[in-house]
Amino acid sequence: MFGKIKEDLRKTLSDLTEKGLYKEERIIAGPQGGEISLKDGSKVLNFCSNNYLGLANHREIIKASEKAMKEYGYGLSSVRFICGTQEIHKKLENKISDFLGTEDTILYAACFDANGGVFEPLLGEEDAIISDRLNHASIIDGVRLCKARRFVYDHSNMVSLEEQLQKAAENRYRLICTDGVFSMDGDIALVDKICDLADKYDALVMVDDSHGSGYIGETGRGTHEYRDAMGRVDIITTTFGKALGGANGGCTSGRKEIIEMLRQRSRPYLFSNTLAPGIAGAAIRAIELLSEEKERITRVKDNGKYFRTEIKKLGFDVIEGETAIVPVMLYDEKTAVKMAAELLNEGIYVIGFAYPVVPMGKARIRVQLSAAHSKENIEKAISAFKKVGKTMGVI
Ligand SMILES: *Cc1c(COP(=O)(O)O)cnc(C)c1O
Repeated sequence: MFGKIKEDLRKTLSDLTEKGLYKEERIIAGPQGGEISLKDGSKVLNFCSNNYLGLANHREIIKASEKAMKEYGYGLSSVRFICGTQEIHKKLENKISDFLGTEDTILYAACFDANGGVFEPLLGEEDAIISDRLNHASIIDGVRLCKARRFVYDHSNMVSLEEQLQKAAENRYRLICTDGVFSMDGDIALVDKICDLADKYDALVMVDDSHGSGYIGETGRGTHEYRDAMGRVDIITTTFGKALGGANGGCTSGRKEIIEMLRQRSRPYLFSNTLAPGIAGAAIRAIELLSEEKERITRVKDNGKYFRTEIKKLGFDVIEGETAIVPVMLYDEKTAVKMAAELLNEGIYVIGFAYPVVPMGKARIRVQLSAAHSKENIEKAISAFKKVGKTMGVI
């Protein structure tokens, strides 16, 4: 009986709208890219996708996906351990292990699942998880599914991390977990310092490098490469849904025994379908393209730097960082949402982020640069920010 809850839901939904927290979805009428088509036939420049390397509509990626589908079919209609493992899945796992410099890799339908299934099989109530305050929702949920004690340290604060490690000293195992690149602030975790503390306090380290894999570090291997900590991180989770092609799929990569245990016990692996062959084939090709088209890695970084410098010159408040994520801070929820709408009118597609994605009073427009953007594209975005910023009295 759909009775009282209907009225309550309606009320909550209209409250969201009033507070500027209601999320509208805009409909794209073609493939993802630096420039995209909207339903009404107009074209806009896209500055809010995670398509860092511009691979989401790359001819080679599509070809690789088609080839894999022709060879291995559309889907497996099975989980991996029953009858869902093909050569292409093993090939992708090996490819990722080589790329990340790890011993083994296990695939998931998404990184959300990788994080959902990584803690519970490894840790029990006698153990401790020590988590950065700003970690991604999927880590938080994964930790909730596990009986280990939870400790939270202040964002990227090594003094706070050390305090929490001391509090967790009595526990059997300690696991520190952090995002590699923090998606909302765009800063890079201090993975080398985290590993030092892990050595000192006998803890394991897990990094979710969803926003780092593919373009952070000299060869795009991610945060552990950037921080010179290759081989020191015990567990890396990541996605193929961002820089590495942009479709779906994720993985957990790391120490051999850990991955072996996940294959036995990780619930999103045991009870969810195999990654489609078309995605596996495309993800393999994406990793190859990182070395074949190295200039993509350089371009996205240069684009990030350029936008960051210019937007600051205009007087906008941005969170400092070195990535292609540039958070333009507006603080007020409604201002962020309104400004994003105004920018769309200027042909710049960005999103205002508000609670609960970011804390209350910390609303922002998160600008994401891509290798798919030309210098002219970025200049157009900067002049639109200037115009709208002035009209709205933000700068
Ligand atoms: C995007 C993201 C995820 C989710 O990845 P999916 O593969 O889309 O499920 C997980 N963790 C972090 C840090 C992310 O940014």
